[in-house]
Amino acid sequence: MRCAIIGAGIAGIAAARKLNERGWAAVLFDKGQRPGGRLATRRLTSGAGEEGLLDSGAQFFTVRDANFADSLRPLLDSNVVQVWHRGYEDGDPHPRYCGSQGMNAFARAWAKGLAIHTGVRVDKLEAMGRGWRVMGEDFDAAIVTAPVPQSLELLQVTEHPVLSQVAYDRCLAVLAIPTKPVSILGPASWQAFDSGPISFIADNRRKGISAVPAITIHAGGAFSLDHWDDPNAVGELLKAAGVEAQAIYLHRWKFAKATVLHPERCYREPGGPPLVFAGDAFAEPRVEGAVLSGWAAAEAVTVT
Ligand SMILES: Cc1cc2nc3c(=O)[nH]c(=O)nc-3n(C[C@H](O)[C@H](O)[C@H](O)COP(=O)(O)OP(=O)(O)OC[C@H]3O[C@@H](n4cnc5c(N)ncnc54)[C@H](O)[C@@H]3O)c2cc1C
Repeated sequence: MRCAIIGAGIAGIAAARKLNERGWAAVLFDKGQRPGGRLATRRLTSGAGEEGLLDSGAQFFTVRDANFADSLRPLLDSNVVQVWHRGYEDGDPHPRYCGSQGMNAFARAWAKGLAIHTGVRVDKLEAMGRGWRVMGEDFDAAIVTAPVPQSLELLQVTEHPVLSQVAYDRCLAVLAIPTKPVSILGPASWQAFDSGPISFIADNRRKGISAVPAITIHAGGAFSLDHWDDPNAVGELLKAAGVEAQAIYLHRWKFAKATVLHPERCYREPGGPPLVFAGDAFAEPRVEGAVLSGWAAAEAVTVT
């Protein structure tokens, strides 16, 4: 049995691993050049030739689920994943993990050995008899893990009776190589803020992934929405963070964090060939939630 998975973010990777374990052949399609989706890492070089490594999307992840902990053990043992910080200061006893070479390296390591077509934007799903045709290949089932509005585009619908309610915050992410220490961070490697233009700032060197100081700034949802196309947004964020930069990169995350969720871990479309929607908008809007959603989608496909 063959399953097409659209989206090779962490949810799609989790679904593919589970399907393969169960004897299915999973094939992932992603429009990006590499798997990982919002687990994204970028190199940035200053005029002086200093190269920083910066996580632009998800900064860390927690592990509460015992099966996720088991899956992760080989990556911790081989130092692909490490503890960034313990997070006890906010009352949460779970360590924050990150990729030792960035979050994307973690995703790629977890995706090793999977069948993945990268650089392929799927524009529609065609029902063919009892299965699906995706990019000219026939499959018995399909799992879609793109952010929900993009997933619905594949069905060529704008309204969906169950999934249209799902919503996301945007995020403007500014990456910068600073010219001098960033005082807003003090001695810490990260700071989070409840109000103001910035929601999160981190130094990727102190995080342990960059050889040189390299700052990730995430704008809050309201600021990101209001300043989405504002050419002054980067300057405002750098000023608010007190960062003088010698190299800058802006990434716009249109679907950054799910704010209105579908309550279940995945959603199976009734009628027609097996089609399951999954991702971080299903029950838990974070990396671990996306993993558990991918697993739930694989389960939903294989029990049919
Ligand atoms: C700025 C930011 C900060 C965050 N911080 C944290 C954090 O610190 N901790 C945490 O746990 N979570 C964090 N998150 C959330 C976390 O990144 C997500 O919950 C998780 O990565 C979602 O995984 P996913 O597989 O569901 O979706 P995605 O990673 O979005 O994967 C979906 C994939 O589908 C692909 N795709 C879309 N449309 C198509 C198409 N038509 N054809 C082919 N491919 C397609 C995309 O290229 C993408 O790779 C953050 C997110 C952002 C953006």
